[in-house]
Amino acid sequence: MKETNYKMPDWRIYSITDMVHWKDYGTRLSPRTFAWATGDAYAAQCVYRNGKFYWFVSTFHKKDDNSQGGAAIGVAVSDRPTGPFKDAIGKALIINEMTKDKPHAWDDIDPTVFIDDDKQAYLYWGNLSCRWVKLKDNMTELAGPITVLNIKNYIEGPWLYKRKKLYYLVYASAGTKPEMIEYCTAPSATGPWTYQGIIQGNVPNSGTTHPGIADYKGKSYFFYHNGSLPDGGNFRRSICVDEMHYNRDGTIQPIVQTTKGVAPAK
Ligand code: CA
Repeated sequence: MKETNYKMPDWRIYSITDMVHWKDYGTRLSPRTFAWATGDAYAAQCVYRNGKFYWFVSTFHKKDDNSQGGAAIGVAVSDRPTGPFKDAIGKALIINEMTKDKPHAWDDIDPTVFIDDDKQAYLYWGNLSCRWVKLKDNMTELAGPITVLNIKNYIEGPWLYKRKKLYYLVYASAGTKPEMIEYCTAPSATGPWTYQGIIQGNVPNSGTTHPGIADYKGKSYFFYHNGSLPDGGNFRRSICVDEMHYNRDGTIQPIVQTTKGVAPAK
């Protein structure tokens, strides 16, 4: 049966040492891990700090004393990258009620976390609105007010990182319908952000795409998704990775998508 909406029951882990042969560890985290959560496993990012792995996730909140429901961001923690992970707080880190600049209930999704050279951690997130907040050293509490940014063509899926002296905010964007990936750069983790353009165009057979960036063994890799597997589509997306290249001034060259798809679903 073809799905008619997103269906993502849990979070999975894969590892790799040669960028060819992926090892599948299966499901290692689920919304069920969070007593306050209900619904699906939305976008997530795991970061390492002081011997622990903090897995920031977006999912949905039950209607209870803390929230009237809607999307929320939680944190799971483990001593190992493969788990077992447990709820690091016992409640959500971000609930829908904390941000009110957008009226829809799923605006608080897609966390990205970056720890700067001075050890200050930053959380960026949001659908149709890009927000950031400082995190305390324990990674489980906010360390200041939430700031809402005005980022050109921003839709969702931010990815924050630093390379050399430049900070990058890469995100799924409204360059054209469907989504593309665009980015900004800044002299600090909090901006001011300068728009730099489109780095990845539309993807085959999926209206959404989503960036994840990692350097490994001397190369930079750009992770994203498309719907190009034989039974793929908007609601059956698959993960892709391609190499990423920088110009001398730090700008990012357009991503060449090599995962073209073999038999797009009807
Ligand atoms: Ca909200």
